[in-house]
Amino acid sequence: MSELLPDFTLVRPATVAEAVAALAREGAQILAGGTDKLVQLRRGLAVPDVLVDIGAIDEMQGVAAEGEGLRIGAAVTLASLARDPLARAYASLAEAAACVAAPGHRAVATIGGNLCLDTRCLYYNQSHWWRQSNDFCLKYQGTVCHVAPRGNRCRAAFSGDLAPALMVHGATLEIAGPEGRRRVALAEFYVEDGAGFLTLAPGELIVAIHLPAPAGPSAYAKLRVRKSIDFPLAGVALARTERGFDIALTGTNSCPKMVNFDVPFSPDDAYFTALEKAVQKAASPQRTTTIQPHYRRLAIAALAARTARALA
Ligand SMILES: Cc1cc2nc3c(=O)[nH]c(=O)nc-3n(C[C@H](O)[C@H](O)[C@H](O)COP(=O)(O)OP(=O)(O)OC[C@H]3O[C@@H](n4cnc5c(N)ncnc54)[C@H](O)[C@@H]3O)c2cc1C
Ligand code: SF4
Repeated sequence: MSELLPDFTLVRPATVAEAVAALAREGAQILAGGTDKLVQLRRGLAVPDVLVDIGAIDEMQGVAAEGEGLRIGAAVTLASLARDPLARAYASLAEAAACVAAPGHRAVATIGGNLCLDTRCLYYNQSHWWRQSNDFCLKYQGTVCHVAPRGNRCRAAFSGDLAPALMVHGATLEIAGPEGRRRVALAEFYVEDGAGFLTLAPGELIVAIHLPAPAGPSAYAKLRVRKSIDFPLAGVALARTERGFDIALTGTNSCPKMVNFDVPFSPDDAYFTALEKAVQKAASPQRTTTIQPHYRRLAIAALAARTARALA
């Protein structure tokens, strides 16, 4: 298989209803900014018959105040989100948007595409011939997981930066599909399975993200090899609440993960040590990158404790 784009029909609906109708066609898939989708097309990891470009749908654009909170269209770009004055009230979100990939990517990459970004693994994000020479793998076209050969589920890592940053602010998604519209809490949108990590039904798309008023200050911190461009090896978002902190992770599990940490805040070392331990426990990095899982687990916990101290 070459690295040329496969044949497909491109459609550009003007409304959400038209997009839903287009997605009902055989082999239809969504194209937003295309910063990940185009790579997948070239690598033979996505083979759509119809690509539904959602870039011309007005309802999916714009950031607007909604009561005390915010509504963000799913096709809003990360560059505009990072500099949006309303979005800045949610510091973890603006910080996460500003550290995705490089400026050229962020100019077209969307928040919806980021939330639906496919999970990543050393054995998966490769060319067709590379994967073929390895007998493919359990996630796509193969039968064995090279990361955990005795297991029967894919351990690829969810590596989107925005999901944890939104989760700590209690975001909900507005989803449209053949059955109409529904809302779901972002924290319940994912499942821990690298091959099927989204709970989107066939033909559904994210239309918008809704945020309540920010509960308190927040921040996002990220570990990566090259600061100028890379995916997170591990990323953590924290929001200060009346109780203590809401914490969410990315890059370490097959879905973005809220950390269960119900310890009332106290400004002493024992509190931050307990927070660090809770993050270590929740993080479950696997051999899906060239960086050792043990290092990623310790680093994400240290990063979380450091960020919590700064916010406190
Ligand atoms: C060199 C490089 C570095 C990168 N670094 C990072 C990084 O540091 N952090 C990071 O998070 N990402 C990174 N990415 C991945 C990607 O650029 C971002 O995740 C981006 O936000 C994806 O958005 P997009 O609009 O381009 O999505 P697309 O590539 O268009 O789509 C991504 C997926 O989402 C689906 N999708 C898109 N919109 C919707 C919607 N509204 N509803 C339902 N499904 C939808 C698509 O069908 C596709 O499966 C990197 C990519 C590259 C090439
Ligand atoms: S974790 Fe296993 S099944 Fe999943 S992409 Fe990697 S090698 Fe494939």
